[in-house]
Amino acid sequence: MTESYWNARYGAYIKCPVPNCNHVGSVITKAHCRLVHGMDRAEVRKKYGFPENVSKLNRKQIETMKKRGSRL
Ligand SMILES: [Zn+2]
Repeated sequence: MTESYWNARYGAYIKCPVPNCNHVGSVITKAHCRLVHGMDRAEVRKKYGFPENVSKLNRKQIETMKKRGSRL
């Protein structure tokens, strides 16, 4: 089960592992990987690894990242 790596725990956030992608959310969706990076999640994982847990960041930092990377 690798599925859970793409979903943050309740109240937590993860960041897309692709360099220069600042997408942060409680889930990195299949649609995000496909539409933004043209890959499915398995390919993204193979190339860049699993999403990074950014729950240690404070809410303000996360909001800033979300705004910057709000392409989807
Ligand atoms: Zn991304």
